Amino acid sequence: MKKYNFNPGPSTLPDITIEETAKAIKDIYGTGLSLLEISHRSKEFESILAESVSLFKELLNIPEGYSVIFLGGGASMQFCMVPFNLMNKKAAYINTGTWASKALKEAKAFGEVVEVASSKDANYSFIPKDYTVPADADYFHITTNNTIFGTQWHTDPDINVPLVADASSDILSRPMDVSKYALIYGGAQKNLGPAGVTFVIIKDDILGKVSRHIPTMLNYKEHIDNGSMYNTPPVVPIFACLQTLKWLKGIGGVAAIEKINIKKADLLYNEIDRNKMFKGTAVKEDRSLMNVCFIMNPEYIALEKEFLDFVTAKGLVNLKGHRSVGGFRASIYNAMPIEGVQALVNAMQEFEKLKA
Ligand SMILES: *Cc1c(COP(=O)(O)O)cnc(C)c1O
Repeated sequence: MKKYNFNPGPSTLPDITIEETAKAIKDIYGTGLSLLEISHRSKEFESILAESVSLFKELLNIPEGYSVIFLGGGASMQFCMVPFNLMNKKAAYINTGTWASKALKEAKAFGEVVEVASSKDANYSFIPKDYTVPADADYFHITTNNTIFGTQWHTDPDINVPLVADASSDILSRPMDVSKYALIYGGAQKNLGPAGVTFVIIKDDILGKVSRHIPTMLNYKEHIDNGSMYNTPPVVPIFACLQTLKWLKGIGGVAAIEKINIKKADLLYNEIDRNKMFKGTAVKEDRSLMNVCFIMNPEYIALEKEFLDFVTAKGLVNLKGHRSVGGFRASIYNAMPIEGVQALVNAMQEFEKLKA
């Protein structure tokens, strides 16, 4: 049975990414060697890395003066690398979810952290709009898509200090005005590839402004100067990401995928709003196009497990919501085809007919 994987991360990938990576693991480019065993200094991998960087820049329309690097450590490592490299005295954070609050907490080891606003009291169901970023902050940190709570910034904000974004779960899902950001980072395993690699897009002139000693492995400048090759980079995940980047370019890039993402999200949110058994958890204007969180209306709450079993039997898997929201979460990243979303909508309608 064809399965649709709604997991929040690691998550569904384009078929071609999986096929090409499987092929390369057997034999990369007819060399008679496996992708698992080639040198990161081989000309094969050098071209894989160079093409990944250039496609990333092309697809996101990254301006001159920015570097793209691939690191290990996950997005969580960036929670400390960002303040290590960018915070002198003070940084501002907006607390829009679990990941945002982890980033904020980590930064406190490096100086004064100003939490400009928080939606914690409303279980992170919205993105605060009313906040002031202190003019003397070294940077302002946002989480562009809150994977756990299903909220998303739908515009790139204009901020008076350097803007830093955790874009783990919506990178390359829509055009971004990269020139508004000093740094954008994220783990690959939501919208790009398998776990094991982290992308960082850095405006070069933001670096070199802190006086503390930065350990080599945590120093962006070292990784930029060494072209992501200061140490052995995650060869296999980078190869897989390249396949996804090629796939994305092939279907028309971020402008084209944004249209599809809007269509998929509209399809599902319309059903959640129409169906008497379900309701969405995030305020409408901040609803994420990537992670759709919904719960059962109180009179049907006893049917939650039955609904999960019902959809799982239809091959619609990993729809259980995060424990901090409950209910269901459909992660419908770039690689989730509209057919998968339609199948979920059909199942919701069928369940309503049977039970409501
Ligand atoms: C998944 C996720 C993270 C954590 O990523 P790791 O690579 O596991 O460290 C951080 N931020 C956001 C927004 C995420 O979705």
